[in-house]
Amino acid sequence: MSARTTARLRRAPTEHTGWCARDHTCGIDTHRARPVVTARGTGRAVMTRTRAGDVDYAEVLIRIPLHRNENTARTQLALLLRLLGELLDTLTTSHLLPGRTRRPALDRRHSA
Ligand SMILES: [Zn+2]
Repeated sequence: MSARTTARLRRAPTEHTGWCARDHTCGIDTHRARPVVTARGTGRAVMTRTRAGDVDYAEVLIRIPLHRNENTARTQLALLLRLLGELLDTLTTSHLLPGRTRRPALDRRHSA
């Protein structure tokens, strides 16, 4: 336990970013923007741009109501998992990098 505390104290503080909220959600080396919310029906998603150390990422909290029927709920969960995978694939692939364009024919051949 004490070793963990010591490690935490060794983190180098980083400056606030231009987009962080500059409030209690910022830590020594972690900065967070104000959360953005989107909602559909009774579901909602909260996205927060975050910088931890020198890495920027999006934190996403999604609340999705599940059907009372267990089989339907499991189907919803399976679909959610598949869609989250597709979302990660879409947002983390190289075609989003500056200077790159999407080439569907090559993408199809590459994934086959
Ligand atoms: Zn900050």
